[in-house]
Amino acid sequence: MELHTLTIQQLHQLLKNRQVSSVETTRALLKRIETTENRINAFITVAADQALAAAEAADQRIANGDCQTLTGIPLALKDIFLTEGLRTTCASKMLENFIAPYDATAWARLKSQGAVLLGKLNQDEFAMGSSCESSAFGATRNPWDTERTPGGSSGGSAASIAAQQATATLGTDTGGSIRQPASHCGCVGLKPTYGRVSRYGVIAYASSLDQVGPVTRDVTDAALLLQAIAGHDPKDSTSVEQQVPDYSTSLKNDVKGMKIGLPREYFIDGLDPDVQRAMDNAIAHLKGQGAEFIEVSLPHTNYAVACYYLIATAEASSNLARYEGVRFGHRATETEGLIEMMMRSRAAGFGAEVKRRIMLGTYALSSGYYDAYYLKAQKVRTLIQRDFSEAFKQVDILLTPVAPTPAFKIGEKTADPLQMYLSDIFTIPVNLAGICGISLPAQPSAAGLPIGLQLIGKPFGEETILRAAYSFEQTTDWHRQKAAL
Ligand code: GLN
Repeated sequence: MELHTLTIQQLHQLLKNRQVSSVETTRALLKRIETTENRINAFITVAADQALAAAEAADQRIANGDCQTLTGIPLALKDIFLTEGLRTTCASKMLENFIAPYDATAWARLKSQGAVLLGKLNQDEFAMGSSCESSAFGATRNPWDTERTPGGSSGGSAASIAAQQATATLGTDTGGSIRQPASHCGCVGLKPTYGRVSRYGVIAYASSLDQVGPVTRDVTDAALLLQAIAGHDPKDSTSVEQQVPDYSTSLKNDVKGMKIGLPREYFIDGLDPDVQRAMDNAIAHLKGQGAEFIEVSLPHTNYAVACYYLIATAEASSNLARYEGVRFGHRATETEGLIEMMMRSRAAGFGAEVKRRIMLGTYALSSGYYDAYYLKAQKVRTLIQRDFSEAFKQVDILLTPVAPTPAFKIGEKTADPLQMYLSDIFTIPVNLAGICGISLPAQPSAAGLPIGLQLIGKPFGEETILRAAYSFEQTTDWHRQKAAL
């Protein structure tokens, strides 16, 4: 049995029935990491000894009759989640040696079930990017074609699944960072509703947009992992006090009569033919199962990227002020005085993209410009939110592409940040509206590259998008295809 290819659900059954141990599974994945990492670079830190110790503890627990869904399951986390005792870099030189004194809530919940942490995954620096190229630890490569990026910012989270180095992973999504890499790497990625999962202990990028979510091999695993991390956390005041439903009830083949909206503004002329074909094919599959399609309009879509890059950079400039070499971050040496020390620490610790965003955000917030940029963007954000609430009066969910093209080549967009920003057009509006979205494998491109399908749900409508995603998955086997590595 190839232990590194199994899903959470499959592995859980085997662990529970004592047919395999967590130690042997963890060993199999560590071995896989060892043999593939030189080609992929999905990990910033591999924690082999800690992982094996946790696996041993999990096996003990299982022997005592306590096998919860995640007990003994080897996972990996984007390096934006604080992990007590294991360094958290956020892919920045700024935090190269940072060891957090506590665990992020999402990880703490998995750990309390006995999940095994294999290590910390590569990403764009401070989650700013769409390609995993802005990491201070080198770019991650796409397992389907190592000349290409895995997408970003949670590129390591998706690439490690596609390279079969971890059973499941967590990422974060501020403007598409779970869904877009999932799409490019042939995985399932779920961005829950803002407030569904605690952000406590997750390094902040843009706090009004950031959200934690699973990256997995299939829809079932996304539901299982979401179940384990969702719910109110007294340590994050933006996590809502709302009952977490039983997501496993969504795992049934049932879209009969479901109304699915196709936003006119997302199906523009000139959409990449491979992406268009994947969407047409997905629509046909879902229609065949009894779903009903309705064209809807999200009229402010065109303003979403501009609006996002004002709000996200403004919040980032404020959040990243804490890295000044005193309380947090890299400290420059041999400097004269406090101000020079802070300036030189920031100059040396942050990479080019992070600096660009801090400058853009600081500008948008500066007096005299605040009303023209930041305040205006907040108003546009409200219009975008209203677009979705209007559409959801007519339909249950929306179906759209995740990204305008399959994975692009490494280096293709780095010289032109605007091109990179525009590639997030289909994912950003979901974050601005605070709603949920899932990316799952649709028909691959003619050249065999994965292409994701996005299903967008109402606030706290994860059950409905999971149900539609599960139904779609039943009719296809694209999620079972594996990158030849
Ligand atoms: N690519 C977007 C950005 O660069 C989104 C990143 C994210 O979701 N963290 O900001």
